[in-house]
Amino acid sequence: MIEAEFSRHLLEWYDANRRELPWRKTPEPYAVWVSEIMAQQTQIDRVVGYYDRWMKRFPDVNSLACAHEEDVLKHWEGLGYYSRARNMLKAAIVIVQGHGGEFPTDYADIRGLPGIGEYTAGAITSIAFGQPEPAVDANVLRVFARLLNMEESVRGAKGRSRVEKQVRTLIPTDRAGDFNQAIMELGALVCIKNPDCEQCPVLVYCKSYGAGTVLQRPVLPAPKKIMRINMATGVLVHEGRLLIQKRKADDVWPGLWEFPGGGIEDGETPEQAIIREYMEEVELAIDPVEKIITIVYNYTRYHVTMHCFLCRFAEEPSEPVFNEAAEGGFMLPAELESYAFPAGQRRLVEFMKNDRSFDALFSDV
Ligand code: SF4
Repeated sequence: MIEAEFSRHLLEWYDANRRELPWRKTPEPYAVWVSEIMAQQTQIDRVVGYYDRWMKRFPDVNSLACAHEEDVLKHWEGLGYYSRARNMLKAAIVIVQGHGGEFPTDYADIRGLPGIGEYTAGAITSIAFGQPEPAVDANVLRVFARLLNMEESVRGAKGRSRVEKQVRTLIPTDRAGDFNQAIMELGALVCIKNPDCEQCPVLVYCKSYGAGTVLQRPVLPAPKKIMRINMATGVLVHEGRLLIQKRKADDVWPGLWEFPGGGIEDGETPEQAIIREYMEEVELAIDPVEKIITIVYNYTRYHVTMHCFLCRFAEEPSEPVFNEAAEGGFMLPAELESYAFPAGQRRLVEFMKNDRSFDALFSDV
């Protein structure tokens, strides 16, 4: 058991060292919710720019509830895990229709909103409403795995439940939100992968420091195997416009836009894959005429290599038939800015935008 003085030491450190972040200025439930959802899987430094842009466009629940999904996805573009943005739109509609546009204050009501799990519900209820609910994210798990010198994995239900119980015994009723944020801040600034224990305000309570096992904590499950994927994508240009299509609702990255293409099959070259994919996906006969770029990126446990080619019609131009997309069409290069693309495809768009040779290619091919 960690001593009662723990919270006082931690909060004193937090008051002196916490980062000034835009959502900390006004801990309104909507602001806390937006920042917490954005911060999942994303570094805080990157979140700030997205947060500011989002709050300008959707300053409150009502403005978000009225937005089109396309607009919401566009403001999420680059953050990844797009189901988070779609769920925020759904949750905003529930708040407007079911709660009169006022963010619910009850933990169970908040937890029942689309896309809000235990962590986010705990963060909103404690930070915005001052209720003593734990908010246990990866940072908090890491800190407590070390403080308690936990031999069990913190990713398992047993380990997580132990941490939550410990937080409940420590969380002060008068500063619940600050306590949760202080633990997260400690995990983000001091108790990092290679922790700076000499700077730690709760070093005296840390069992793994005492036992010399800091670097063996937290105990994690074996990492999942990385899968390597080779893909080919074709940018079909016709009369200065480029063909893009919108992914179906039940596909990976639903609602996002892309240039047609797909996985390279055994024995295929990237060019052959593009020709086949175009025939399957949009029933167009095309020629890959020039390599644009090879883009390498990681997506969850996938390591993707995407070969990108400029293409033209191989035969008389015809209308695409969108067999594997919700919709699509030929767009002007400038129009691509208003569509949300997955990260790899957005990099392709940005490359073409910044490479002067494409100014001419767009109009000449
Ligand atoms: S003493 Fe080191 S390992 Fe323990 S909580 Fe502090 S920073 Fe983390």
